[in-house]
Amino acid sequence: MNISHIEHIGIAVKSIEEAKKYYEEILGLTCYASEVVEDQKVKTAFFQVGQTKIELLEPTSEESTIAKFIEKKGEGIHHIAFATSGIENELKEIESKGINLIDKTSRKGAEGLDIAFLHPKSTFGVLTELCEYKEK
Ligand code: ZN
Repeated sequence: MNISHIEHIGIAVKSIEEAKKYYEEILGLTCYASEVVEDQKVKTAFFQVGQTKIELLEPTSEESTIAKFIEKKGEGIHHIAFATSGIENELKEIESKGINLIDKTSRKGAEGLDIAFLHPKSTFGVLTELCEYKEK
């Protein structure tokens, strides 16, 4: 495994517009990017905190996994994402060690990252994301 740092922490919110006020006005952070990831039916907003980002996730549809998460557990921390390299090989390695994968191969996430999720049932309750910057 080549994990280098925590790339971001994903936080499920009902409204980015509302939550943003807390991060900007109270914590004094700056939202530097916002995008809709159609694939995952979410709107995202990013705040840089050192090497790590806070990623706010707002569902854009009732079928979004974020909508279901909020319905079940309320707003709050949704996942932790580790920056790594060689994600495809790592997924194979992780699976061979008996961890359940949500994504057997990586897919496109926000910010042009290749991402893949590990199942929280195998990771002590923490939805875990691996992500990799692809060189252009
Ligand atoms: Zn994420």
